[in-house]
Amino acid sequence: MARRRSKDAPWTARVLTILPEVFPGPLGASLAGRALEKGLWALEATDIRRFATDRHLTVDGSPAGGGPGMVMRADVIAAAIDHARPRNPAAPALYLSPRGRPLTQARVRDLARGTGVLLLCGRFEGVDERVIEARGLEEVSIGDFILSGGEIAAMALIDACVRLLPGVIGKAQSAEEESFEQGLLEYPQYTQPAEWEGRTIPEVLRSGDHGRIAAWRRAQAEALTRARRPDLWARYLERKADRED
Ligand code: SAH
Repeated sequence: MARRRSKDAPWTARVLTILPEVFPGPLGASLAGRALEKGLWALEATDIRRFATDRHLTVDGSPAGGGPGMVMRADVIAAAIDHARPRNPAAPALYLSPRGRPLTQARVRDLARGTGVLLLCGRFEGVDERVIEARGLEEVSIGDFILSGGEIAAMALIDACVRLLPGVIGKAQSAEEESFEQGLLEYPQYTQPAEWEGRTIPEVLRSGDHGRIAAWRRAQAEALTRARRPDLWARYLERKADRED
């Protein structure tokens, strides 16, 4: 994966969408928003409709072979990609799609280390298969459910990447202890008041004994992962066994 290019070209998310007005949306708030203002990353939402060639600015057509809904046209999308891609040739070109490989924290980390991403947001029934093939788009899913468009999926991916960029989160440590970073779900968190509706904070967290606290958190994270995510737990055990070999 290519490294970030230089200080004057921050990590950049280029988004191809028929709804450019929904960006930055929530990405303009809080940590990501402040980082955007500071120029720690950049966002460019491009209207796919600009690349339509007829006077009605058509971006879609009815599905070949029949069936409900509309399909986004290969020629229009290809023109949008060909316009955006040369601006950051090292950035992977991804099509947000429920058929894609599910996004993971490992992939997010990988993308955040690069120069940015080019994201194609589908709408309607999706996009003409030929443009996915011809432009070598990688399909990425954010989960086994169907959204009405790729914009929210793109925002989820961008948000996950941006919070890993240098300088975006205050304490470098906080990103490292998160769920998935160790292959485990996160341990339970508590804050004041010490007692709330008769519930107290586990005594160990008030002990000031950092060794005991770390051991308790690790045990909690393991128990939670085992109970809730047998898939992650199995992988965690495998990796642990590999490390011990
Ligand atoms: N007919 C398609 C779904 C189209 S949904 C199918 O059954 O596979 C319309 C658009 O929303 C898609 O083109 C895609 O860009 C986006 N989308 C929907 N669900 C998504 C998901 N789980 N992950 C990423 N993008 C998704």
